[in-house]
Parts: sequence; structure tokens; C-alpha cells
Amino acid sequence: MASDFDIKDSAEFSRIVPADAKVEKLADGLKFTEGPAWYQGRLIFSDIPASRLYEWTKAEGLKVIREQSNNANGNSVDRAGRLITCEHGSRRVTRTEADGAITVLADSFDGKRLNSPNDLVEKSDGTIWFTDPPYGLPWPDFKGKEQTGHFVFRLDPRDKSLAIVAHDLDMPNGLCFSPDEKQLYIADSGKPHHVRVFDVKPDSSLANGRVFCVIQPGGPDGMRVDADGRLYSTAGDGVHIFSPTGQLIGKILVPQTPANCCFGGEDGKTLFMTCRTGLYSIQLNTQAPAR
Ligand code: MG
Repeated sequence: MASDFDIKDSAEFSRIVPADAKVEKLADGLKFTEGPAWYQGRLIFSDIPASRLYEWTKAEGLKVIREQSNNANGNSVDRAGRLITCEHGSRRVTRTEADGAITVLADSFDGKRLNSPNDLVEKSDGTIWFTDPPYGLPWPDFKGKEQTGHFVFRLDPRDKSLAIVAHDLDMPNGLCFSPDEKQLYIADSGKPHHVRVFDVKPDSSLANGRVFCVIQPGGPDGMRVDADGRLYSTAGDGVHIFSPTGQLIGKILVPQTPANCCFGGEDGKTLFMTCRTGLYSIQLNTQAPAR
């Protein structure tokens, strides 16, 4: 359906999006959806203000899987298959163990509470990288903020140590690695409305941060890459797809503004999009990088 798309490079776009693909609404009536992750054969996501985690499956539709999620936001799955979660209300990053127990991986840095961890990604070495803007604190003065900045952290879950990897973003938000993990993309949803890309050095520090793309309308929030290194960034009007060099290939237009997206489904080629009160999807020809 042509009205679902705004195509800039038709040859490349047709490699990604099947000719008959269309945006489907899977669920609606929620408050503010975020944090999609493909977890144990189902799509799970957060409703931040409702303080719930949901799952969605084709067979059974929508189900609440956690009440009192502490206003969970971003979710991801580590290489051991465990859910890792950013929680706004409790200002921490947690891991859900196989038996359902919740392990706190990080809640402070330098003796001060985190702002409100927003989104996270695991690197293949087991470290978890997360952003910590103050969106979960009272607007506009962020009362109760203890950190001296809005940092991006590298967390080592083995000893729960934290290190700042980026400190010069206004509102660091979604983040993801390139398939070879030599680059890290970080969305800045504050004043700049752009995505920056950093080189990941062998010692896991970042270097050479530069603007990868500017997002308009709206700004970037959650992002994912596909196996060929294309970046899928949320934006005011949908999900924008960029080539690995930052060229806009086209947009998947969605009726509500998406805050995040992820690959999943039985063949891994469904892009799920959490969009304000609704959950949407589209079938693509692409999928997440192998891990
Ligand atoms: Mg976010």
C-alpha cells in the first residue's frame, strides 16, 4: 500500500520492503508503549505510564506479563536469553532470571542514583550499554536528579561496574551497534534531533562521534540495525530507514508516532513498532544481525 511509505531510493527500498507489505495494527488502547523485544517466541513491550510489561502473540493477542514494572521502558534480551530492562520509576537496570527473579544490575553511579535508564543493548562480550536521560523525572526541572549529566554507560554485569562511554549528548535515548560492533549509534532526542555514530575502540571506549543523520519530523527514539547494517530509526511520522552511510532510503509511515521498534516473528523478519497507544508491525525482507 503506497500510502504506508515515503520512498527515497526505490531500488534499495524494494529490497527491504516486499511489494505487498503493509503496516498492521496489532493492539491499541494502551497508554504509552515502548521497549519492544523478541523474547521466548513472543513480542514483549512496556507500557511506561501503566507500569506494565505486555506480551503479544499472533495466537493469543495481548497479555499482561508483569504488573508493577516500575515504569519499565527499554527492553532487550541478552545472549543467555534473559530479559534486561530499563526501569524509570526505580531508576535502575534489571535482569529477569530464568526463574523469574529480578536482579538489579545498576541503580547508581559514583554514589548517586541514576536519572532514569531509557534504553539498552548487549554487546557480544556480555557488557550492557544503556542511556540515562532524565525523562522519567518530573518535567521540566527534573527534581530529584542526582547525576551531573545525561550519560551513556557501559555496564559489566559480572561485577556490576559502570563506566561512562559518552557524556556530550543532550538526551541520549535509543542505541544499537552495527553488525560488526565496530560502531555504536546513539539517538539524541533532545535539542539536536539527530543520530550520532561513534567508533567502538578495542578497549570498548568510544571515539570520533559524528552526526550520522538528522531526523525530521520529530526526533529519534528507539533504533535497530538489520543484518546488512541499515539503521531503522523511529521518527515523528514513522520509522526511517538509512543506509550504512547515512542516506535515507525511505520511511515506513505509521498512524501513531513510534517510540521504538525491533525485529522478531517466526522468521525474524517482522518489524514491530511501539507507537504511543498502539502496537504495529510490518513484514520485511530483512532481519536483525545474527548473534
Ligand atoms: Mg527511548
